[in-house]
Amino acid sequence: MPTGPRGPTLPSDDRATLTGACEFCAWTTEASSHARLARRYQDHLRAEHPKAWLRG
Ligand SMILES: [Zn+2]
Repeated sequence: MPTGPRGPTLPSDDRATLTGACEFCAWTTEASSHARLARRYQDHLRAEHPKAWLRG
């Protein structure tokens, strides 16, 4: 699994909103699952930080 956002822990309630932040800018996101959060972060990296994304 690729490197995901820092910080968020997986709550017991999977409907809880998780938040993630970019390591490289002020971008943040919210998602209802860790998988969705990681997906959004990967999409952000690919769009905004392609060099970082390519490094994984
Ligand atoms: Zn960013």
